[in-house]
Amino acid sequence: MQISEVQIRLNGRTGDRLRAYCSITLDNEFVIRDLRVIDGPHGPFVAMPSRRLVASCVRCGQKNHLRARFCNECGTSLPERLVRTDASGREKLYADVAHPTHTDCRKRIEQSILRAYEEELRLAAKPGYVPRCMGDDESDADARASASPVVSADSRSAGVTPSAGLSPARVPRRTC
Ligand SMILES: [Zn+2]
Repeated sequence: MQISEVQIRLNGRTGDRLRAYCSITLDNEFVIRDLRVIDGPHGPFVAMPSRRLVASCVRCGQKNHLRARFCNECGTSLPERLVRTDASGREKLYADVAHPTHTDCRKRIEQSILRAYEEELRLAAKPGYVPRCMGDDESDADARASASPVVSADSRSAGVTPSAGLSPARVPRRTC
């Protein structure tokens, strides 16, 4: 599995442990979004995309956060025993929606993202820096959809392998 592209969008809020949002493309054909660079006690690390765990209210069926004490919809008291703990005793409130199955893959993903993150920090220190778009809104998604067929048609007709033309450095930046 090749990590063919990494996109980083720095978190502009200073003092926040969440340093950046990232997306990665695998083998030029599968994108995973919502990875995050977090500033941990031993330096930055990569968090996998995750969803917040919820539990349904026994009375009305409303989905509530696991730590909620009362249902958001009907006010019924909710049991606290729903929160589980992981191997190190921390409360498990989120679950990864995509994650590597072995350490080697996790390392490769983390190293690629942290390299791109460091590079983005260098770029951000220069005047005129424009943060990268991550496809979080409709207009950006449309721009990607209309631009990508042209790129693939060009690379096919020129006999170039797709990976050659898709390095992050050569993808033009758009303003958000
Ligand atoms: Zn309820």
